[in-house]
Amino acid sequence: MKHAALWVILLAMPVRPASVPHNSRPSPSTQYPQFADNSEVRAALAWFARNLAWINEQQSRLTEIPAPSFQEGQRAAAVKLLLASSGLEVQIDKTGNVIGELRGADEKEIVVLSAHLDTVFPPSTPIKVRHEGDRLLAPGISDNGTGLAALIAISRACHEAHIKPRRTILFVADVGEEGEGNLRGMRALIEAYKPKLKAVIVLDGSGTDHVTTKALASRRLEATITGPGGHSWSDFGMPNPINALVRASVRFINTKVPVAPRTTFNIGQIEGGTSVNSIPYEAKLKVDIRSESEDELTKLESALRDCIAAGVRDEMESSRDRTKGKLEWKVELLGSRPGGELPANSALLAALRSADEFVGNQSRVERSSTDANVPLAHGIDAISIGAGGTGGGAHSLQEWYEPAGREMGLKRALLTLLNVSGLAEEKAR
Ligand SMILES: [Zn+2]
Repeated sequence: MKHAALWVILLAMPVRPASVPHNSRPSPSTQYPQFADNSEVRAALAWFARNLAWINEQQSRLTEIPAPSFQEGQRAAAVKLLLASSGLEVQIDKTGNVIGELRGADEKEIVVLSAHLDTVFPPSTPIKVRHEGDRLLAPGISDNGTGLAALIAISRACHEAHIKPRRTILFVADVGEEGEGNLRGMRALIEAYKPKLKAVIVLDGSGTDHVTTKALASRRLEATITGPGGHSWSDFGMPNPINALVRASVRFINTKVPVAPRTTFNIGQIEGGTSVNSIPYEAKLKVDIRSESEDELTKLESALRDCIAAGVRDEMESSRDRTKGKLEWKVELLGSRPGGELPANSALLAALRSADEFVGNQSRVERSSTDANVPLAHGIDAISIGAGGTGGGAHSLQEWYEPAGREMGLKRALLTLLNVSGLAEEKAR
């Protein structure tokens, strides 16, 4: 029997809407039997249970290698070795992404399974994994220690089980997902593989309770106001960049944003000045804006520019001595995460749903800002999911992970991956 044909049938099946309650789903006998039917897939699924301790070890080891955004090299090298020992052809691209290739029967089509390498913690952060019962504690242990451990485990399970995919699978540990990394790793990957890329599955953090199919668009902006600067007493009356920034900020935080589509703004950092008795020569603020709508984002960005211009104008108009110089301003884009949405009838979402059914999991659709933003913005099918177990305290020094339930997350990710990659046509037995 040609199992590949069944996979094709599955991929062509219409998608069940996410809102269908679990009890109205097909009974077990009508679920996709090809998962259980294929001996290689079965072997790959069974590999996880036997190797949970090893997977925990890899997670701890990788977590303890510092990897702030832009300084992922050391951790990348460790991941490269692990992927190579999963029998993959591995390279590190010029951006720093580790890319391990499992060649498919059809090399013209590619599916990516990725996990980001980087953390939000500065290089000086001490990282030593502590154990409290079954709980592992360390900065970055879950985000994205869990995703990286799953990437390694899934590649190893495929290797041990001699999985031969139809489409080529790239196992990718990418750089620059967090903060000012601005998704640079994923951007480079999409740029390089876009014509062949059929789907991207992002493993980020823990859990199995969600699937991110909607990319939250965001922009980070920095406003800078500059002037000549001077002495608080002798130059009194000179326009003051901090005054202008405060005037502008008050205007900006009074901007009305819609509840739907949900749109938010945050002044996250403000800086400027040199001493209490100096008129500053510079003041800056950093703003993060997010929206379910790209249009609202554009409106909010132009509102910020208008407010900064108005704040500068107000300050110039009220300065007591305009001969003492003029203020300049600029607003720069520090980062931009594009929005996008996976179509509800996509083969990738169908693959995830059938994997969920097979492992007996239920997950809700979420909107979030992840590596999946980039492919989604390019119209490439992409999701971001947790890699099993439970975790908490992401981006804090108290971050933790509990491996119980990891196996389900690994199976769910593997089945989703193989469902979209397909299996190579088998030789007659
Ligand atoms: Zn993450």
